[in-house]
Formats: sequence, structure tokens, C-alpha cells
Amino acid sequence: MSETEYFNVADIFGENVFNDAVMQERLPKKTYKKLREVIEEGKELDLETADVVAHEMKEWAIEKGATHYTHWFQPLTGVTAEKHDSFITAPMPNGKVLMSFSGKELIKGEPDASSFPSGGLRATFEARGYTAWDCTSPAFVRQDAAGATLCIPTAFCSYTGEALDQKTPLLRSMEAINTQSLRLLKLFGNTTSKRVTPSVGPEQEYFIVDREKYLKRKDLIFTGRTLFGAMPPKGQEMDDHYFGIIRERIAAYMRDVNKELWKLGVSAKTQHNEVAPAQHELAPIYSEANVAVDHNQLVMETLKKVAGRHGLQCLLHEKPFAGVNGSGKHNNWSITTDDGINLLEPGKTPHENVQFLLVLTCILKAVDKHADLLRESAADVGNDHRLGANEAPPAIVSIYLGEQLQDVLSQLISTGEATHSLSGSKLETGVKTLPDFMKDATDRNRTSPFAFTGNKFEFRMVGSQDSIAQPNVVLNTIVAEAFSEACDELEKADDFDMAVHDLIKKYATEHQRIVFNGNGYSDEWVEEAERRGLPNIKSMVDAIPALNTEKAVSLFERFGVFTRAELDSRVEIEYETYAKEINIEAKAMIDIAGKQIIPAVIKYTTELATSAAAVKSVCDADISVQTELLAEVSDLLSETKVALAKLEEVTEKGGTMEEGRDQAVYYRDVVKTAMDALRAPVDKLEMLVDKDIWPMPSYGDLIFEV
Ligand code: ADP
Ligand code: MG
Repeated sequence: MSETEYFNVADIFGENVFNDAVMQERLPKKTYKKLREVIEEGKELDLETADVVAHEMKEWAIEKGATHYTHWFQPLTGVTAEKHDSFITAPMPNGKVLMSFSGKELIKGEPDASSFPSGGLRATFEARGYTAWDCTSPAFVRQDAAGATLCIPTAFCSYTGEALDQKTPLLRSMEAINTQSLRLLKLFGNTTSKRVTPSVGPEQEYFIVDREKYLKRKDLIFTGRTLFGAMPPKGQEMDDHYFGIIRERIAAYMRDVNKELWKLGVSAKTQHNEVAPAQHELAPIYSEANVAVDHNQLVMETLKKVAGRHGLQCLLHEKPFAGVNGSGKHNNWSITTDDGINLLEPGKTPHENVQFLLVLTCILKAVDKHADLLRESAADVGNDHRLGANEAPPAIVSIYLGEQLQDVLSQLISTGEATHSLSGSKLETGVKTLPDFMKDATDRNRTSPFAFTGNKFEFRMVGSQDSIAQPNVVLNTIVAEAFSEACDELEKADDFDMAVHDLIKKYATEHQRIVFNGNGYSDEWVEEAERRGLPNIKSMVDAIPALNTEKAVSLFERFGVFTRAELDSRVEIEYETYAKEINIEAKAMIDIAGKQIIPAVIKYTTELATSAAAVKSVCDADISVQTELLAEVSDLLSETKVALAKLEEVTEKGGTMEEGRDQAVYYRDVVKTAMDALRAPVDKLEMLVDKDIWPMPSYGDLIFEV
């Protein structure tokens, strides 16, 4: 590895971003002012301004070495997409070329969209799709081995304006919560705030393994997770990895990741080892939801890309290893005004903070009413191994408030009046030389899927490889709805103070069932939640229908976030995605079992038999070890063969089924079951067969030898 190069973060931060400072410096005053109006007030962008911006953007990008530009967008595949165009124009008579980039090229792109999932919104013969510049998320230059490219964040829509991506509904939902929050603030006499935006800080978990070993695991290559693998003697039971010292090889990798991200203006802030061996986390400082979603995509891309340079492989799958903790993404969410007021800040005495109490109880109502949608927003194929399996967080949506707010709420519900707030006490360590400080009024609860953490909510269900767009679309919209309904009531009240007091009490009482401060991992909670009537949606397939219930359609249509057709299309895409992904996993298993595992086991049995026969021919020694092992291995081998034949049969049938819910249910209930049945004997075989013969690195090799 090359020698460590030291750098000053402040010097490189944002150096590859066409950010406000760059715009202010490079754009003519008039253009800059117009663009700010577009960004901040949503004013229309005229072509003349766009032309000037495009020209300067191109000049700036070329200085950074850019040869191409791309409209960078987020179709419903879960990853970003891009098509590159170089800046060159047709050669001039003298044979030279000019570099050009027009306003039109900046604001509109037209990728051939027919191969992106559209869920029936667009037939392949009507392939037109447009990408449209999202000027609220800054353009950036990405530099890597492929050269430098100017990336322009864009939304992606069909010819008829339907959203084919993650960004469009997100921007729409941000509009909704902006409008409704301003309405609410106005009721409390706020006349100064002009804009309210959701702030999001996603904590990204990931695994790092050695790339050489990774390349020997076809399951990881094809599906991102191991489909076979026996547990090593040591797992995560010692808790010695969590927050442990970061090994030098990983630290060097993280350093490189941070550097790349800082250049792109992503404020990578914290990094640490996670619970499982080889598992880590990276969290940026929170930003506006829209930028946070784009940045999270950059974080995921960068984690993967930089790993290769260090001979490592980054696994973003939610469950790369059975029996070892999986990865998620904690979505920290709050709502803030342009003049810096966080609507989720309770202050020291929340019982007196009427605006906060209204906001809080509106959120209780929103989450209670739309728990199914929130659950759905975190559903992806990989996350099925976490949510509702034996792992955190549970699939039941509930809210953790902590002692202080719970106490205020209880006062409200029981007496209609909250008269005091519990406060934090001094932390007693019993050591004189340690500084005194005040504890928070509330401890944390790590088992809650939706926890209040001081001045934000932390939604912990999201999968590690999933986009955070959908969870935020849902959060923004359901809270906008609750605000809007509260405003409908309060705007017509004669006595505002009385009305708001009654409304807070009403919401707190009607929706207290969603609050749970206990251990979310316990079996008692599952029973208790059932008694309370809270949904416990265990799989993605069961979660999908929430997207286009009448309740969901009326919610999303009312706030202009999704049309019914868009929701129907998303439902279709999700069922298809589910079936396709499980199908790939099943086929990978068939391939690996048939071509790698069975041949290896046969080789081993031959060795055992040859050895036993050889020993026997020389003397009359006891060969029971060889013969017993041979019998055991042979039994498991035939069990494997039978299970493989079954998996082949059911997978083939699945492939012939019509796409849709029935197919997805079939893959979950039949194909996955057959996959489990094949894995069981193979994992037992791995424990018996000579390690030199086993055709791939073990769990132990992968997670302990990085
Ligand atoms: P922890 O692991 O203790 O929950 P981290 O520091 O790992 O905390 O991550 C917390 C995330 O929440 C960070 O991305 C942080 O910037 C973000 N965050 C902090 N305050 C807010 C807020 N008001 N709104 C949204 N996100 C926030
Ligand atoms: Mg954290």
C-alpha cells in the first residue's frame, strides 16, 4: 500500500461540488439571483438562465477533468442510473471540436427508458422517459478510474408525467409537509418562517470482506448474501467487535471513503465497528431530505467502489450471513424551518410547549394510522431476513417516547392537563476526578423501530441496501396529513388555546396504543401488540398491499405525492422484484450445489473410501471412524441431492408463472422453503468435509480474516 497521504479536510470538502459558493463566484449576479429563487422559492427556470448556468457548470467541470456529463437518476431498481454524453460537438471544418453544454441539456434528458421498471405505466413501445434537473441537489464531478464525469441529479418521469423514480415523489412529499407545517406554525403566531423542510441523517451499516475470498463465493457474487455456510465456532457473542479498535486495513479503507465523500460534499461524520464481526457503520451529518437521499446513494456507491482499491469487498445486503447480525439503516428524521426552528425540539419543559405537543401527538396519530405504510416503506427482499425474523428491529411499528415525554403524555391523558416535566439529574459516577454533567432526561431504547431521540425520530426499520427515499416519502406525507387535519380543526376554532388543548388530549388518548417503551424484541410485546390491534406484517409480500389500499390512495392523491396509477405500478414492480430476486437466489443455489458442493463431497467420500480400503488391505486396524464418517457424509449427500432436485423442480415452475402477487407468494412459500431444505444438509456437510476440499471460504474465513 502506498504511503499515507495527509490532508486538511476543510481544503478538500466539497471541492467537486457545484455548490452555492461556486455558483456565487462563477455565475453573473443576475443569473445567481434567479437560480437561488428557483432553488428556494420553486420559481420557474427560464432557458436563458439555464444556458448561463450550464455553460459555467461545464467550464467548472472541465477544469476538474470532466469529459462527460450525465443525468444521474434513481429508477425503481434501488440503484442509481446514468447515461454518459461527452461535451464535444461535431468537429469543425478545421478538424477540432468544441466543448459545449446547453441549458436544454442541463434541464432535460431523454434516456431510452424502456428497460427500467415501470410497473405497466409505460408499454415498451412507448419508451419515452425524461430526466429533469433537480436544482435543489447540487451537481458534482465524480472522479475515478473511468475519468471524471459531471453528474446532474435529476428526477425521472414518463412521457405522461408519471414518476418512474424515487426522487419525484420525495420532492412532492417535501412540498406537502412544507405547506402543512407552515399552516400549523401560522396558527401559533409564526409569521417569519418561509419554508419547512424535513432533515434526514441516515446511519449506514455494511460488511467488509476480503475480495479474493469474496470472488470464491458465487452466492455473494450473484446475490449479495451467502446462501450456504455453517456458523464458525465464534460469532458475535463476545460483543468484542462493537466499537472495538478499527483494524488498520479497514481504517485505511474508511479514510479513503471519507476523503472521496468529503470531496463530494457528503459530510461523513461518524464511523465505528458494529455488532457483528466485519460489520461497520458510517453516518453523515444530517441534511435536507432530498440531498440526504442523494448523498446516501453516493455513500453506498463510494463504499463499494473504494473497497475494490483496497482488495476488499463491501456487502450492503441486509443479511449477508445467517446467524450473524444483519445490516440496516437508521433514518433520523426531523422537520426544520428555514430560520432554524426544529419542530421536534421539546425544550426543557415539554409540558409547556404546546406547539411541540401538537406536533408530537400528530406524529403519534400519523404513525398509528399508517403503520402499514411505514412498514412497507422499509420492505425489501433482503430486509425480510431482519424484520419479523429473529432480529432487530421487530416488524411491528411502535413509537418509543422515553420517560419524560411518556410522563407528559400520561398526565395529559389522565387529567387533561400536563403540569410538569421530568428533568435530567446529575450523572453520579462515584469518581471525583470525572467531570459532573447532567444526564439526558431520557435513556435510549435500541429495540424500538421508531424512537424519539431528543429532537428527532429515528426510524430503524430501513434496510441497508435500500434507498431511504420511500421511508421519507411516507413520513413526510403521513405527517403532512396529520398536520393538515389538525389545522382544519384549529383554523375554525373560536378559542384557539382551548381547541388545541382538547385536540392534543384527543390525539394522545386515541393513539396511545402506538406508544411502547418496553423491550421490542420480547415475545410478550408480540402478544401485547396483537391485543392492541397493531399490525405485525412479517414479510415483504404481505407488506406490499399497504401501498394501494383505499386509505393509501386517498392519502397520497390528496397531497399530490402519488396517483393511483403510480401506486398500482409500484405494487406491481415490488411483486416482480421479489419473485425475481428469490429466483436468482434459487438458481444460484442450484448452480453452486450441483457444480461445486456435490462434486466436492463426492471427492471427499472417494478419499474416505480409498483410505479405509487402503488401511484395511495393510492390516486389520479399526477403520470405524472412516466408515462411520463415510456413512454420515453419504447420507447427507443423498439428502442434498433430493433437496436439490426439489428446488430445481419448484424454481422451474415459478419461472413459468405469471408475474404478480401469486407468483411472489409462491416464491416466498414454496421456493424459499425448498431453499432452506437444501441449505440444511449442505451446512452439516461443511462441518464434516475436509476444509481443503470444501469449494469455498467458510464464514470464519470471511468474517474473521479481513
Ligand atoms: P446514534 O448512533 O447515536 O444514533 P449517530 O451519530 O450515529 O447517532 O447518527 C445520528 C444521525 O442523526 C446523524 O446522521 C445525525 O446527523 C442525525 N441527526 C442529528 N440530529 C438530527 C436532526 N435534528 N434531524 C435529523 N437528523 C439528525
Ligand atoms: Mg450510530
